[in-house]
Amino acid sequence: METIIQASYFIAAVIFILGLKQMSSPVTARRGILWAGAAMVLATLATFLAPEITGSDQALTNVSLIVIAIVIGGGYAWWSGKRVAMTDMPQMIAMYNGMGGGAAATIAAVELLKANTEASHDPTGTMTIADALGPDVAILGILGAIIGTVSFSGSIIAWAKLDGRLHRSKLLPAQHLINAVIAIATVGFAIAIYFSADLTTIVIFYSLALVLGIFITVPVGGADMPVIISLFNALTGLAVGFEGYVLGNAAMIIAGIVVGSAGSLLTHLMAVAMNRSVANVFFAGVGTDSGGSATAAEGEMKEIQAQDAGILMAFASQVIIIPGYGMAVAQAQHKIWELTQLLNDQGVSVKFAIHPVAGRMPGHMNVLLAEAGVPYDMIYDMEDINADFKNTTVALVIGANDVVNPSAKTDTSSPLYGMPILDAIESDNVIVIKRGRGTGFSGVENPLFFTDNTKMLFGDGQKAASELIQAVKELT
Ligand code: NDP
Repeated sequence: METIIQASYFIAAVIFILGLKQMSSPVTARRGILWAGAAMVLATLATFLAPEITGSDQALTNVSLIVIAIVIGGGYAWWSGKRVAMTDMPQMIAMYNGMGGGAAATIAAVELLKANTEASHDPTGTMTIADALGPDVAILGILGAIIGTVSFSGSIIAWAKLDGRLHRSKLLPAQHLINAVIAIATVGFAIAIYFSADLTTIVIFYSLALVLGIFITVPVGGADMPVIISLFNALTGLAVGFEGYVLGNAAMIIAGIVVGSAGSLLTHLMAVAMNRSVANVFFAGVGTDSGGSATAAEGEMKEIQAQDAGILMAFASQVIIIPGYGMAVAQAQHKIWELTQLLNDQGVSVKFAIHPVAGRMPGHMNVLLAEAGVPYDMIYDMEDINADFKNTTVALVIGANDVVNPSAKTDTSSPLYGMPILDAIESDNVIVIKRGRGTGFSGVENPLFFTDNTKMLFGDGQKAASELIQAVKELT
């Protein structure tokens, strides 16, 4: 039996890694998700048999409660996963992230409480958590508890921000000092737990870690949320890996390490893309209100009608389309692809420019464009296309805002300052499709919309794209 269980864990881990690999391309991503899901089911089933090999102290108790929890949790996840709108996926991911961190922290809490009970029966009264669990398990368990708890409360705040329930990104006076004090106190209590088995110390430790996650995330603002979300993703993986060691569960260790390392790489890529250091985002609350708000833009927005915009594009030599979060909200990707094909028929060269943090999750725009059937060779990353804007007749911005905001380059008081942007402003003409004068995720004004060569095509993204299609069709 032991061989079968260990082999199941190994097979699950291999399938999990292969699934993850397939997720890196839109062509194979769907299959990759199914594979990873199947690996999870296999690992879960093997866990039900695991007590046979891990000894009676690890035997599964309350099996019926576990099954009820799996049915309720799995049922809710299935139902909500089916219903969730594409635009709400980032919140859902932040929430799942948090749940993973919370689950890891809960495993640690159960182990710590078990050790506390064991110590309370120790006749000498000197037993510590390290004695009860063993030094290596105690250290990794406590580390997993800190990381998992911070990731749990931080991810809940990230969810609230992405869901529009929490808007402010305020730094308290002396926020850095407060965060440092809480962080040091959390580590202090973690060390105290290791050398004692006191229940009150455990409760204070968890409370401090919860507050730390909240205090780290509340000040993160501007456009830095992607970095912190993917950092929490990495931390959750790490916490799960540590707790896998505590439980002696190979599948958890491997899955945790894979998620931790994939998340760390993504965090690094996002931070580079945003021109931020991870430490800056984590500890300094870059891009918050107290960092100064961008200087108000001067001038007036100039409107254009779809008819005129269509003519401008149909007679252009090159059009670069810049999609953003608003395209996802409007689900305008299919119309945009139809427009692209019409322009191609007119002999216009059309390219798509993707900013690394456009939308609300990594790869958001790539997924939407792939869904609409846009060929990959038409889609360019920021660094590959920025030089091309100078030779472009029309930059069509659809539902993008922060990623084309030139104040990121020029205005040191802007929360976006330092973030690389798509240089739409360099094009001969810029047409911006958006519903009104609303700001983007960072909440700052965009001077691009007020420049002489920019015209605003106000309206919902899908409706405006349909009108452009109509306008171009009328010319043929
Ligand atoms: P922004 O959020 O900056 O701007 C989106 C724009 O779309 C808004 O100005 C809005 O203006 C417009 N819009 C909304 N709905 C519609 C609609 N139905 N039709 C037409 N327009 C619409 O988006 P960007 O993609 O430019 O930038 C992404 C931002 O999100 C960055 O700040 C990034 O840091 C942040 N972020 C990114 C994550 C990621 O992983 N990619 C994760 C978390 C945050 P109006 O209301 O006037 O229509």
